[in-house]
Amino acid sequence: MSYNDLINIDDFSKKKETFNTERWDVSFYCKDCKKIVDVDRPNTKWYTFICKECNWKNIAIWTEEGLKTNYRIK
Ligand SMILES: [Zn+2]
Repeated sequence: MSYNDLINIDDFSKKKETFNTERWDVSFYCKDCKKIVDVDRPNTKWYTFICKECNWKNIAIWTEEGLKTNYRIK
């Protein structure tokens, strides 16, 4: 469940009421690949995203800037 991933990001608790992946310009970070990846969303009703690189769903969703800060992506 990707909501847990979102809650783990510090700033998210302030913003989760308005979180909307359709409206936001967000990026997807795969915790297994350890980088920002493209994802599939098999069901638009679920916050489940599948990494296209490893086909697993260990995905965090946030703005690209926020992901780079939180996961220290270079
Ligand atoms: Zn992956």
